[in-house]
Amino acid sequence: MRRQVRCECGYVARGRSDDEVIALTLAHVATNHPELADTETAEDVRNWIELVPE
Ligand SMILES: [Zn+2]
Repeated sequence: MRRQVRCECGYVARGRSDDEVIALTLAHVATNHPELADTETAEDVRNWIELVPE
């Protein structure tokens, strides 16, 4: 199963492990939503992960 996280702006982070998707999502937030970067943690992102069939 692949993992993905959908951002409210339409960006979708995809990866093969939770940690990979979390890192991509946090990097996206830091770049595109800096106002949210202080409030969104890795644990928050972990809760948003969706499992996607290959
Ligand atoms: Zn976004």
